[in-house]
Amino acid sequence: MRAIVSLFLVVVLAVGIVWLWPRLESDPPVLSGPERIELGAGEQRIDVAWEDSGMGLAEVSAVLRLPAAPGADSPREILLHEERLRSNRPGDPIGRDTEERQTLVLDAAALELPDGESTLLLRARDASWSGFGEGNAVERAIPVVVDTRPPSVTIESGVTYVRRGGAALVAYRVDDDAERSGVRVGDAFFPGWREPGGRFVSVFGIPVEAAENPVVEVVGVDAFGNETALRFDARIRDRTPPEISIALSDGFLDRVDRTFRSEADAPGATPLAVFQRVNTELRVRNDDRIADAIPEPTEAAWSGAFEQMRGSKVTSEFAELRHYTRGGSRVSRARHYGYDLASTSRAPITASNAGTVIFAGDNGIYGNLVLIDHGLGITTLYGHLSSLEVAVGDRVTRGQVLGRSGATGLAGGDHLHFAVLVGRTYVDPLEWWDAKWIRDHITSRLESGGEPDA
Ligand SMILES: [Zn+2]
Repeated sequence: MRAIVSLFLVVVLAVGIVWLWPRLESDPPVLSGPERIELGAGEQRIDVAWEDSGMGLAEVSAVLRLPAAPGADSPREILLHEERLRSNRPGDPIGRDTEERQTLVLDAAALELPDGESTLLLRARDASWSGFGEGNAVERAIPVVVDTRPPSVTIESGVTYVRRGGAALVAYRVDDDAERSGVRVGDAFFPGWREPGGRFVSVFGIPVEAAENPVVEVVGVDAFGNETALRFDARIRDRTPPEISIALSDGFLDRVDRTFRSEADAPGATPLAVFQRVNTELRVRNDDRIADAIPEPTEAAWSGAFEQMRGSKVTSEFAELRHYTRGGSRVSRARHYGYDLASTSRAPITASNAGTVIFAGDNGIYGNLVLIDHGLGITTLYGHLSSLEVAVGDRVTRGQVLGRSGATGLAGGDHLHFAVLVGRTYVDPLEWWDAKWIRDHITSRLESGGEPDA
């Protein structure tokens, strides 16, 4: 009988230990969030998590602790999130509420946070029975630096006239803490370049497709995302680009089909459908690739006027809107962002000014393409070449041969497609072929006051 009682007690004790042990776990919850938060004037979303792999979470909270207000002893606390998930009652299961996630919205203005240092405190307590039912508690402090002061920007250029599709230069100054600055025109951004004397200049363009009377702003942004945007007095001279119709021939569509069927990813499509895809989707991808190759502005590597292809005739102008027709009806359209220049077939194609080759290779509708970065955010583009004689990284001088003209890509015949980009915006090459325009609008407005060193 005593043996049975003893055995019974041992069993009860064993069951008790097995039952109690996990409920008495001493692993505290794990808290995750950023290492440090830099908060500007704009709203910031912070992802945080509380996790407990043992009994589960009982309580979680997130509190912002601010320095004591002048005259007050204790720091202020703002409760951002608090949740009581469960109690540590005997019937509670193990491993429930093991994870809680929140996106905290920090807005310095709405929370009336002072500039300076604060602390985000993440706290949690688990449902363990350890500590006489108090559970395991933990706290994590994340430093928060608040800076809501935007950088100061001053514009040094006066009223400036610029054509739609044309370019201009603005000089300005920004605080040292501005991380990024430049000119914004609608969706287009033109980063500035810091001259040796500390002043910034930005060559910007008015996109052909910009809204009517677009706002031109000089923008400075600091590391905290605080932005100052000053309106620049740019007077836009509007113009209406020409529209033309191009009838698509069978021969042209067949050639497009042969060249692009696989690249347009259009198995089973008609040659017309392949052309439509090439003229829209592939065009966007090819333009993205060009935009990706363009670096931040540097010192001007060029001097004087840009050169038009020697002995060439203009066959198509900047910004014309092309309507493609088939049997009299419009089937596709595209804007032509360059000049088409034709001479003899396989004519030498030369650099229009000094610079560095930033792209040399096939790029879809542009065929064999060369891009030259000239500094100050100015890029020239040479498309449809039959052969290339330069490679990425080559420094070229004005008149240096880049390759031979051809009809690669989306081209009806042997010609050069020439374009000028300012930032990532196509502008009218006519201005850049004009020595007087360049002097009056660009080089005379640089700190050096004249021609930069070639
Ligand atoms: Zn063209």
